Amino acid sequence: MPHVAVIGAGVVGVMSAYSLFQSGYRVTLIDPAEPGSTRASSYGNGGWLSPSMVVPGALPGLWKKVPKFLLDPKGPLTIDMRRLPKLTPWLLRFLWNGATERRVRPTAAALSSLVGSCPGLHIEIAKTIGAPHLVEASGLLFLYRNRDAYEGEVLPWALRRELGATWTELDEQELRITEPCTPEGYRFGVLVAGGHTFDPGLFVAEVAKFLFANGVHYHRATALDFIFGRDRLNAVTTDHGQIECDKAVISAGAWSSTLAALVGDRIPLEAERGHHIVIPGNGPELQHPLLLTDRKITVRKVAAGTKITGQVDFSGLEAPANPLRFAVLRELVVDAFPMLGEGPERKISTWMGRRPSLPDSMPAIGHSRRSTDIVHAFGHGHTGFAAAPETARLVMRLIEQKQPLGKASSFSPQRFS
Ligand SMILES: Cc1cc2nc3c(=O)[nH]c(=O)nc-3n(C[C@H](O)[C@H](O)[C@H](O)COP(=O)(O)OP(=O)(O)OC[C@H]3O[C@@H](n4cnc5c(N)ncnc54)[C@H](O)[C@@H]3O)c2cc1C
Repeated sequence: MPHVAVIGAGVVGVMSAYSLFQSGYRVTLIDPAEPGSTRASSYGNGGWLSPSMVVPGALPGLWKKVPKFLLDPKGPLTIDMRRLPKLTPWLLRFLWNGATERRVRPTAAALSSLVGSCPGLHIEIAKTIGAPHLVEASGLLFLYRNRDAYEGEVLPWALRRELGATWTELDEQELRITEPCTPEGYRFGVLVAGGHTFDPGLFVAEVAKFLFANGVHYHRATALDFIFGRDRLNAVTTDHGQIECDKAVISAGAWSSTLAALVGDRIPLEAERGHHIVIPGNGPELQHPLLLTDRKITVRKVAAGTKITGQVDFSGLEAPANPLRFAVLRELVVDAFPMLGEGPERKISTWMGRRPSLPDSMPAIGHSRRSTDIVHAFGHGHTGFAAAPETARLVMRLIEQKQPLGKASSFSPQRFS
């Protein structure tokens, strides 16, 4: 069987390695960091898995809200203004792609082809690797101040409905029964079918552990380049030697564009940074992962306490984490759940991750321009955890030299040229 080098051991790389391994390929996973480590976006994300995750980042009218977001220090969006000249073309493209319903609908349909089967595939994989406890199909709870706020989000819910997502609407009384810890001020809820993984980093680490125990090789290094003989791939070079291989998958998350450029594809990838904090100690005994729709944060109970995720920050791939974003997350959640601010001072843990984002809210999944021996699989933005198993199935097709069918052809990496 051919030997495939998978570059990047985040959720997309590890799932791709899993699919390839299941089909009998020889696989080497290359990453300078252990699978599931804090470096990857896959480590600390919200862990939400739902067919409802089809709504692109940009929607009609978003451009009107951007100035308000930027002026509000507690707002969900931050831009390092020194990067604005470089970032402007990406942002304009992003807003343009969401400017009309006509542009948004095909994107949502394409995303649905990646997330429509979750969390079923995640549950199946968790069982196969012997860690079924890592994924739970519990439903995800969107909290609104009132029904009007929910009904005001016409397009997102229309897209979800049309693309097969299901949910239950909850009035105030039903909401209090479903989630007794609902904070004050939220009088309407939407319980969306789906699931979540308790610890996304651990999930990735466990899948990788299973693969390594069964013959997949781990090469701890940074991939630097590709060596070709005529048009066939011969090897991937790394800072710790060379891996001879027949095929390679570029799944290095927000770091992928440099490698893609080496094989002929200029892809406008941005690190859309997001954050989490975990507040240890007493917290609300939440029954479901929550999205506080007005505060734009997710809140959930985890083993170490209460985990809060959110915020979008365009400060560049290698800039350090911004402590202000952690303070904002804390302030927003304590405002909703005052008990999280009470008692002796708590040692809050913090994390910043880089969502690999493309301006049309879709990933790049397809052959490289230089050679069909190289497959791109990156750019999943806000939905990479949910989309990874289906992405891995597409990667398999591409490795077998088959073209993606139907909606998956929208992910062509060459669409930006
Ligand atoms: C705050 C936050 C909340 C989120 N919530 C959710 C959610 O609820 N549900 C969801 O589906 N998605 C969510 N996401 C998005 C999701 O985390 C990402 O889309 C997904 O993790 C991307 O996975 P990846 O494998 O492409 O990249 P990563 O997980 O970033 O992995 C990339 C890997 O490539 C490695 N690498 C980089 N360069 C090289 C190189 N040259 N050679 C070898 N290896 C290299 C890195 O070390 C890293 O391990 C969230 C993201 C954030 C930040």
